[in-house]
Amino acid sequence: MRVRKVSTCRRCGKHSGVINKYALAYCRQCFREIGTGLGFKKYS
Ligand SMILES: [Zn+2]
Repeated sequence: MRVRKVSTCRRCGKHSGVINKYALAYCRQCFREIGTGLGFKKYS
């Protein structure tokens, strides 16, 4: 199996500033929008 090291945003497809920390693979912008929408701060 081959693992992709380059992560792309699942939402917009960009691969700049993609956050792979939470296994969500969203870029900063999308992560911010989605994160706040889901109340991600509560899970800190
Ligand atoms: Zn994005």
